[in-house]
Amino acid sequence: MTENLLDTLRAVVGAGQCFTEGAIEDRFLHDWMIKTPLGQPLAVVRPADTDQVSAVLRACHAARVPVVPQGGRTGLAGGALPIEGCVVLCLERLDAIHEVDTAAATMTVGAGTALETIQRAAQHAGFLFPLDLGARGSCRIGGNLSTNAGGNRVLRYGMTRDLVLGLEAVLMDGTVLTQMNKMLKNNTGYDLKQLFIGSEGTLGVITRVVLRLFPQPRSRCTALCALADYSAVVRLLNHAKSGLGPSLSAFELMWPDFYELVTTQLPSLPTPVSHGHGAYVLLESMGTDQQADQARFEAVLGEALMSDIVQDAVIAQSEAHAMTLWSVRDASGELQRIFWPHAGYDVSIPTGQLGDFILACTRAVKRRWPDARTVFFGHVGDSNIHIGVKVDQDPFPESKIDEIVYGLVRDWGGSVSAEHGIGVLKRPYLEFSRSQAELSTMRALKATLDPLGLLNPGKVLPEPVG
Ligand code: FAD
Ligand code: ZN
Repeated sequence: MTENLLDTLRAVVGAGQCFTEGAIEDRFLHDWMIKTPLGQPLAVVRPADTDQVSAVLRACHAARVPVVPQGGRTGLAGGALPIEGCVVLCLERLDAIHEVDTAAATMTVGAGTALETIQRAAQHAGFLFPLDLGARGSCRIGGNLSTNAGGNRVLRYGMTRDLVLGLEAVLMDGTVLTQMNKMLKNNTGYDLKQLFIGSEGTLGVITRVVLRLFPQPRSRCTALCALADYSAVVRLLNHAKSGLGPSLSAFELMWPDFYELVTTQLPSLPTPVSHGHGAYVLLESMGTDQQADQARFEAVLGEALMSDIVQDAVIAQSEAHAMTLWSVRDASGELQRIFWPHAGYDVSIPTGQLGDFILACTRAVKRRWPDARTVFFGHVGDSNIHIGVKVDQDPFPESKIDEIVYGLVRDWGGSVSAEHGIGVLKRPYLEFSRSQAELSTMRALKATLDPLGLLNPGKVLPEPVG
């Protein structure tokens, strides 16, 4: 039976694109976060187009063999990890820019195209594709859609979901659902594409995508501000929204624990404003005229300084200066090196309560482990905060920290995953942010699109109780 399936897979993708035991490269067995697979895959296949994806799924469906889709494996929740006896469906060969439509302002791409390739192609055509995250060189657009990735510019352009006009997805039985819509308005029945965005490869395999493009901004203004406390952060957010309007493109919070850690531990980083303040915010606007926009930006910050919302601020005077300010916020990528071992979280809390949540979370962790250290930073304009908790205890008490942090998120009406997804890591906590009625509806959708439960099993949805 297994040999029959492997013969079929080889016939579909070609023997050179089907790897079995002994020939499976290590990179297919883990992702960025989790270094051990959940089980040994039967095979890894690398199809070249939608027809091959469909034929692979149809064959696995007939043989009742589970399938795990993989993009760039940069996911932070373990969604792409292989399970025992599965076929890993690697989509990296679907890496083509099929079309740039300058009138519709769309780009049609294969799901295996790297995000950075898409950003460059958009720029080359005179447009901006605004999705941006640290893994841009490795993550693939199919993975970005499947996790509904966020990043730094959500405040202005929305999540990945908001950047997609159409897509093509293949169901577990091989059915191809082609919805390559290019129009902003299209209210013809259910918007099926949304089912595949953010469902982490559990409802279908995305093979092609129609993306929205935007005009390239002609100006960028950046500042790093120091504030007294979180209530000043909220006042600055509202002040910046009303003063800068839709040009406000980033509003990133760094709590003192994060700001002081990275600016002292990483010698290459500047310390743009002094330590000792209650909060730090990186503010960015993008517009159409550098001179006029810079004057407006400086006026808005000047008002914030005059009215004591902001205690100190550094405004970037050049693109290079802006990049050094961003490098402080982007130092979150170094935490695995300078703040290890730690448990990491990506949660949402309604913006007005985020400051109190941070204090409550710090208190709860320190009550349990008095020497624990924390870092808080994130996209506060989107209610999204990233948390790191470092406890020097062997073995590292990760699940105990999870219970404390996710328990608080539940009590505060927040979301246990703001932008990284559920995968396997947050599966036990999905019900902290979703009602039983929501979970039953999710299970009903899964049962309709994948009745045998073969597509990325064990990811996202927890097992029903009883
Ligand atoms: P993978 O890890 O390969 O897969 C992720 C999930 O999608 C899995 O469940 C997989 O089965 C499924 N999948 C992949 N491709 C397909 C497909 N074609 N069809 C169906 N299912 C599929 N995320 C953010 O949201 N914001 C950030 O700012 C951010 N910054 C990051 C910075 C770094 C340094 C790193 C390493 C990661 C970061 N991430 C961030 C997380 C990660 O990059 C994103 O989740 C990314 O969207 C995953 O894409 P991928 O191609 O690597 O997907
Ligand atoms: Zn983030």
